Amino acid sequence: MKILVLNCGSSSVKYRLFQGAPDATSTGPASWTFVTLAKGLIERIGEPGGGAADHTAALQQVMGSVDLSGLRAVGHRVVHGGSLFSAPTVIDDEVVAAVEGLVPLAPLHNPSALSGIAVARKLLPDIPQVAVFDTAFHQSIAPDGVTYAIDTELAARWQIRRYGFHGTSHAYVARRTAELLGLPSDQANVITLHLGNGASVCAVQGGRSVATSMGMSPLSGLVMGTRCGDIDPTVIFHLHRVAGLPIEEIEHSLTRNAGLQGMADANDMREVQRRRAAGDPAATLAFDVYCRRLREYVGSYLAVLGRADAITFTAGVGENSPAVRAEALKGLSALGIEIDETRNQRGDPVISADGSKVRVCVVPTDEELEIAEQARNALEPDGAHL
Ligand code: AMP
Repeated sequence: MKILVLNCGSSSVKYRLFQGAPDATSTGPASWTFVTLAKGLIERIGEPGGGAADHTAALQQVMGSVDLSGLRAVGHRVVHGGSLFSAPTVIDDEVVAAVEGLVPLAPLHNPSALSGIAVARKLLPDIPQVAVFDTAFHQSIAPDGVTYAIDTELAARWQIRRYGFHGTSHAYVARRTAELLGLPSDQANVITLHLGNGASVCAVQGGRSVATSMGMSPLSGLVMGTRCGDIDPTVIFHLHRVAGLPIEEIEHSLTRNAGLQGMADANDMREVQRRRAAGDPAATLAFDVYCRRLREYVGSYLAVLGRADAITFTAGVGENSPAVRAEALKGLSALGIEIDETRNQRGDPVISADGSKVRVCVVPTDEELEIAEQARNALEPDGAHL
């Protein structure tokens, strides 16, 4: 059976078509094997000279270019599921209305997913469509981990709380880490570091998220390519009241012109590392701030978990930057964390030293594969193949 995974951004459509078959050798939850049949990216939708005029045209293009015979489901990546969705969900009119209701929480992200869903439902009316939410994995976090210490009434009225994001990636990477280390997934404690252009940390206890660094939006937590991560909220009042910046300009600055971009004038970690190697002080400081924030979160999540089996690096920076990995976990041998620099430079799956109590891993993430697996599971809630 085939599953089509769609990730619709505001001006792009990413797609991947999988062929799935039961894996005769395995009996666990991941007891299906998926092979990629086709994948692609349509960019600059709606722009002059772009890949397509609109999302309808883009999806028509996708569906015309792949063989959809035997298609069993379409899996849609949806960024924000609010407090409503804690699992992949088969889409009907009610689900669409609920995701529309969440647009104020994710004005930049949910509308494009909704247009992808609308077009796919129209073009493939007989195929079940499944929404897989970036936030769903973190719905398992206890109330004390998602509640901001603000006026309860305000928080409830305006849905203000931590939601967390990158859930699909954290779930996938934590499970793969357990497999890699030969641990039962429901007993492994893993700190997953998703370090891409966006970046977040997650503490995973026995396969469930118990803490994560992104909050109500993807702006908080780690230092990112262009986002500031954690700052004192007074920075915003100060920029508004004292510096006289309009609120939209402050939002733009903190989301598009902060992080590595703000500190070093480059949002790409490769460029920051090149400049740091050449002795550029701004790039050196940006690198240090980025890695220190990581170290602070690792320490904090070790305390949340009480015991960690592994710390896993993933996504663009996590998978490819030995320098970041080494700096982020520097000086933690007293906490049982020790990297083997030769393994780190090679990017081995396990880069910790033999004596390291906490293992350190590098696991490539694969959000589309996880969406395909979750879409399949959502269609078989009876657990026939689970
Ligand atoms: P992602 O969002 O997972 O695609 O990650 C994209 C980011 O990964 C880019 O912005 C780069 O900063 C970073 N990246 C990719 N390759 C490397 C590398 N070899 N070294 C450091 N950073 C890298």
